Amino acid sequence: MWAPPEMIRSARDLGQTSIALTDHASLSNFESILESLLIEREAAKAWGDIEVFVGLEITHVPAKHIAGMAKKARRAGAEVILVHGETLSEPVEPGTNRASVECQDIDILAHPGLISEEDASLAMQNGIFLEITAKRGHSLTNGHVAKVAQHVGASMLVNTDAHDPADLITAERAIQIALGAGIPNNEALKIVNENAKTLIHRIRNRK
Ligand SMILES: [Zn+2]
Repeated sequence: MWAPPEMIRSARDLGQTSIALTDHASLSNFESILESLLIEREAAKAWGDIEVFVGLEITHVPAKHIAGMAKKARRAGAEVILVHGETLSEPVEPGTNRASVECQDIDILAHPGLISEEDASLAMQNGIFLEITAKRGHSLTNGHVAKVAQHVGASMLVNTDAHDPADLITAERAIQIALGAGIPNNEALKIVNENAKTLIHRIRNRK
């Protein structure tokens, strides 16, 4: 079970300068999740040297409700909004990927499985990052996601999908995971360094 303060400290120990806490959320619980995470963030300021972003991973919400929920979550203080995409390992409703890439309130489509070129193209047009994931199971389709994203010019991020401190990784490991998905070296470096910064700037500018 994850304990947010432990995640924050572990990320810091791995040399990370920021972390996004994004618990699984659906329509009934997103407000209470955000409230709790804001309290954790406030407390973690005592450690000073790691920036904490609070958000949600919209999970198993019917595709037709994703855009509405994302809007409400943003108003409730979600700084980073992911959707649990159509992974092969923990499948959600078909159409979840499409509903996510059409919604500009979404920042990242997590583990999008066998995403179509059309959906990846919409992600590119709407500035939504596609996730290359460190998580076992979800990572089965990293190679496919990387290929389609590169083909249409969609931006990728390497995320841990960490549910436990042991799931957290260093930047070096993130680069290896991108390389393992078949992404060329210069592009892997860009994804891990610059794309992550682009998202952080976007979050800061929204505040
Ligand atoms: Zn997920």
